[in-house]
Amino acid sequence: MQIRRGIAVSPGVAIGPAMLLGTETFRIPQRVISASAVDMELSRFRVALESVCEEISHNERLARERLGDQYAAIFSAHLMMARDTQLLQQIEDLIRKYHSPEYSASQVLRQYAKRLEDLGGQYLSERSVDIYDLEKRLLRLLLGERREELAHLTAPVLVLANNLTPSETANLDRKFVLGFATEVGGHTSHTAILAGALEIPAVVGVGKFLRDVSGAETIIIDGSHGVVIVDPDPETLAKYRVLEARFQSQERRLNSQRELPCETGDGVPITVMGNIEFPAEAEPCREKGAAGIGLYRTEFLYLGSNREPTEEDHFQAYCQVLKAFPDHPVIIRTLDLGSDKMPGALRAAYPEGVNPALSVRSIRLSLQNLQLFKTQLRAALRAAEFGDLRIMFPLITTLLEFRQARMVLGDVIEDLEEQGVPFKRDVPVGMMVEVPSAAIMADEFAREVDFFSLGTNDLIQYTLAVDRADQGVAYLYREGDPSILRMIRMVVEAARKHGIPVSVCGQMSTSPMFLPLLVGMGIRQVSVTPHAIPELKEVIRKLTIERAEKIAARAMEFDVARDVENYLWGELKRLCPELMQLD
Ligand code: PEP
Ligand code: MG
Repeated sequence: MQIRRGIAVSPGVAIGPAMLLGTETFRIPQRVISASAVDMELSRFRVALESVCEEISHNERLARERLGDQYAAIFSAHLMMARDTQLLQQIEDLIRKYHSPEYSASQVLRQYAKRLEDLGGQYLSERSVDIYDLEKRLLRLLLGERREELAHLTAPVLVLANNLTPSETANLDRKFVLGFATEVGGHTSHTAILAGALEIPAVVGVGKFLRDVSGAETIIIDGSHGVVIVDPDPETLAKYRVLEARFQSQERRLNSQRELPCETGDGVPITVMGNIEFPAEAEPCREKGAAGIGLYRTEFLYLGSNREPTEEDHFQAYCQVLKAFPDHPVIIRTLDLGSDKMPGALRAAYPEGVNPALSVRSIRLSLQNLQLFKTQLRAALRAAEFGDLRIMFPLITTLLEFRQARMVLGDVIEDLEEQGVPFKRDVPVGMMVEVPSAAIMADEFAREVDFFSLGTNDLIQYTLAVDRADQGVAYLYREGDPSILRMIRMVVEAARKHGIPVSVCGQMSTSPMFLPLLVGMGIRQVSVTPHAIPELKEVIRKLTIERAEKIAARAMEFDVARDVENYLWGELKRLCPELMQLD
């Protein structure tokens, strides 16, 4: 049994067989072969091995001709390994025990590589890299066109991968993917956010662990605590089965209370809305008890398809969301394409060495591609006829930028008017506060915008200079950092002074631990990952404004994130002890 720790990004417990995605996204089948197929599978393995040997010999010849003997020696070593009779014997023995050749080769080679690594020393660890290389070549040949794609699953699995792109994650089939764990990824990477939207337990940023997994093991993913267990012993398995059942019963209990009023114990209403990425999420989001959509990440219209969405595509998508919320606001955030959400063609446009998170993304991209921007704004204004639609601009950095975006909206209004197209004119226009400059200038912005929405995911990234998708610096990525609390306070004060609404739509508000703090700071509206809504409503019902204000005042006194978070965790435990039953 191996226990790995990563970043908990989507709660719940999932138990099941591993489905391993290599960096080349091939999957190692765990199928058991029948006794009559053993000879055929053995010969399939030998043919693949022979091809691998030919491939390596070819590379050896090339290296000798072009680079000289010492480089050719690298491939000679590979060849020796591929012909090591002891290794081959072990692989064939496993096949004779009815394991697939892919599994057998992977299992034996990985164990061998692991043993070399465990001996320590640079030389041996470099040899282990050679073994992984050999494994990769073999698998590529063995799997060939039979490579099973994520899209064609027929049985439940837990996906283990180095990384999953946001589009891959969005396309995971919830029926069969019970959970996933990735080696890389941070707290609020979009892959993590999508896991929450799909309501599948997920852990990211586990670090290198795939090398120790062959693909046939049972896996436990504990998305509430950020734990991944490979090959659990019977005792651990039993413990997690209990946790899984408890988690499900807590969900049932919370869901049954979702219609209770969403107000604090002393009667102050708090609006809890939902964050969505796809229009199809709107209906389930309402069923979770959302009072509207506080953030619709419309860029996923681009990520889910190979062609650029038309005005009609946008329009239909927005109407679908409005239909699910006839009596509540729906906030359409204009395209936030950038960094991890960049589709292929646009991503390639970044010059080498440029940091996409600080480059042409989001509103900057929209303002540089007016046609793209106007298409979206036209659709939004047209759809606004059918409900309480509001428009929000992402990543606003300067006042000029906001004014420019508003001017483009003005142009679109004129065009629609001239063309006699029906639309709604007085749509509220707000902005995300997710760049430190916007938080610092909140007082000035508040004079010009209709509402603020605090995007803490990016605000933390840009304030603390931490890439939100990088697990290497995830220890610095803290919602509870005092600098973040101070920024939020500034924005709330500016909004109050100018009488405009302010909500929090970053992941910080999805975490029940931060909710009392946010309410205590004056936040009366949040937009969260839908699955968290029933739990957050329970926290709200237990809270009073007086207690929330005390919590906020005390939290503001700490000078390091760890102390803030420990304090808030303790307060939440006192407030809602039954929520903590999973700990
Ligand atoms: C944010 O930055 O907090 C936010 C909500 O937007 P996104 O996660 O899509 O960047
Ligand atoms: Mg953002």
